Amino acid sequence: MQVKDVLAHKSGAVATIDPGRSIADAVAALAQHGVGALVVSSDGRTIQGIISERDVVRALNSLGPALLQTAVREIMTVNVHTCVPTDEVATLARTMTDKRFRHMPVTIDGGLYGIVSIGDLVKSRMDEMETEHDHLVDYISSAR
Ligand code: AMP
Repeated sequence: MQVKDVLAHKSGAVATIDPGRSIADAVAALAQHGVGALVVSSDGRTIQGIISERDVVRALNSLGPALLQTAVREIMTVNVHTCVPTDEVATLARTMTDKRFRHMPVTIDGGLYGIVSIGDLVKSRMDEMETEHDHLVDYISSAR
């Protein structure tokens, strides 16, 4: 199974935020979109960073309430790991587990195209295993 198969079961739009916006805005966007991370981008195509709930919690611990007025660029992760639609889900799941992040933007020709979360990958794998299971049960039943 490839990343494009996972994206096929998701709605298209990726939640992004401009690096100059405040953490208060980022928190509002996370809640509004019901997501755990925002891709940081000024134009919606170029990936400048990523900010997740975890970054907000860590920074809140060190900066306190002043964090809310801080700019997203101050706490975002700059070195973003990305993938392409033809990458294998199994490889991606291993990378995300090893590197301990739960979100991976998907690019086409270097531009933002989608995003997959570890939850999306687990759901896809479970669906795949259920289908395999059903086929095996059918096969065994028909062989009796
Ligand atoms: P997450 O598990 O996605 O909430 O993120 C945990 C940490 O990894 C946070 O510091 C994120 O900014 C960072 N992070 C999340 N996704 C990525 C990614 N694709 N590439 C690099 N860092 C990431």
